[in-house]
Amino acid sequence: MRDFSKAKRIVIKIGTNTLTRDNALDSEFIQTMANQVKVLLETGKQVVLVSSGAIGMGATRLGMNEPPREIQMRQACAAIGQPLLMAQYNRAFGQCGVTISQVLVTAEVLDHRKTYLNLRNTIETLLKLNTVPILNENDCVSTDEIGTAFGDNDTLSALVASKIDADLLILLSDIDALYDQDPRKHPDAKPIDTVLEITDEIIQTAGAKGSQFSTGGMKTKIKAAQIASNAGCRMILTNGRIPRAIERIIQGEAVGTIFLPKRRLGNRARWILHSTPCGTIHIDQGASRAIENHKSLLPSGVVSVEGVFESGDVIAINHHAKAVTSLSSVQLQRLIGKHSTEIKKLFGPDQRGVVAIPEDIVFIDR
Ligand code: GLU
Repeated sequence: MRDFSKAKRIVIKIGTNTLTRDNALDSEFIQTMANQVKVLLETGKQVVLVSSGAIGMGATRLGMNEPPREIQMRQACAAIGQPLLMAQYNRAFGQCGVTISQVLVTAEVLDHRKTYLNLRNTIETLLKLNTVPILNENDCVSTDEIGTAFGDNDTLSALVASKIDADLLILLSDIDALYDQDPRKHPDAKPIDTVLEITDEIIQTAGAKGSQFSTGGMKTKIKAAQIASNAGCRMILTNGRIPRAIERIIQGEAVGTIFLPKRRLGNRARWILHSTPCGTIHIDQGASRAIENHKSLLPSGVVSVEGVFESGDVIAINHHAKAVTSLSSVQLQRLIGKHSTEIKKLFGPDQRGVVAIPEDIVFIDR
């Protein structure tokens, strides 16, 4: 039995296919969603929605049969469709007396600690004010990819859930669940009820070429599950079109697949883990062992430095870990292989005597 009685903060991601019928927003469906969210609010829960649909709506308004592929057209469609999307939500939530708020984010906002903290504070305030924040990628200004593809709200919703310490992430999509094999090729494929750990096998099946899962479908969902899992947040993947999906999930009914959390990282560690590194440093075996044993990273173990970064930026270490560096790439270039006492000699007594402290080093894929 799944128990969400203690889940206070819930992020719900709704995909474009779930929201639309015949290329138009399905206002009846949006109303049922709003009604279910209202019930959650009445029981003291906080809900953040991550909604896709802007690009699709813009394309429909322009008379296109399908969303364009070209980035600039997608951005223009998003700019046209986003207000149409919000108008529908405003109407549906208005019917049940709930105020909504719109928050548009980019990968850059999530990557920089200052803007990310601003975002978190804004969402906290919006939740305190009893509104339902509705997030989407700010597609028309996005230059970076949030996930593996431009406009990947699966990843965005997981990053947001992670950053606001959500207890539960619900992905409402047109996929029923995670299956033990590709259900299109194997009619006897069975849905998986619970994923305790995202194994290599799951990742490979999700990303395998030619599988139904490879086209952004299951792949981004597994990526979202990994992010949520690292944040100590449970994730449910289910078909958003099953009747009363949200209500049934919260009541603990076994719909879709539940992904259980792996490790509970602190806020700063999660921010480090999900930031795009500004550069990479390669370190030797001794330094690798040291950081594995929760020791600081010292310049003597640094073999090479790639990219341009400043002190305080997130960098990759041998592609196994990420860390906040206390030295810039220029400083590090001068310190390669040198004893740590050189740091203060070269850059003054105020400079921290290490490249990164253990608290600022986070291992990927743990
Ligand atoms: N931001 C996109 C939109 O509103 C959706 C991206 C996605 O579906 O993952 O159309």
